[in-house]
Amino acid sequence: MRKKEEASSHLRRRSTRQRRVVLEVLRSTKSHPTADWIYEEVRKRVPNVSLGTVYRNLNLLRDMGEIMELNFGSTYSRFDGNPEPHYHFSCMNCGRVLDVNIPVCTELEEKVRREHGWEVRSHRVEFYGLCSECKAEQRKESQEEYVKTAGNKF
Ligand SMILES: [Zn+2]
Ligand SMILES: [Zn+2]
Repeated sequence: MRKKEEASSHLRRRSTRQRRVVLEVLRSTKSHPTADWIYEEVRKRVPNVSLGTVYRNLNLLRDMGEIMELNFGSTYSRFDGNPEPHYHFSCMNCGRVLDVNIPVCTELEEKVRREHGWEVRSHRVEFYGLCSECKAEQRKESQEEYVKTAGNKF
């Protein structure tokens, strides 16, 4: 009996530690990673962890309100260590998901409420375009293109 209790408390400690590591990994990045990426990082610290355990902990942390699961209609979810409401920007070139530093617009909910009389509890706005790096890259490419075509003329 005592052995069994010891074993179960050992298991409990282990799962608490794994959950803590999952949370730490996620909080240490601003990149809104996928479960696979989180798994690879957690494995560096808990080598025998399984992908299933990482998924289970992600779901648990999400249900506890510690993290957010982002679903942009792609086939896989991304996770966010910041559970506070905020907007995201997806780069259409490199696929990076970045936090948008503007306050969440609650007036938008009020407008819909006034217009339709519905009870609005939340809303989601996503921004799409090119991140700073991809924008700079594109500018460089178009300049190179310009130099090339200009060079051809002479
Ligand atoms: Zn980009
Ligand atoms: Zn975020």
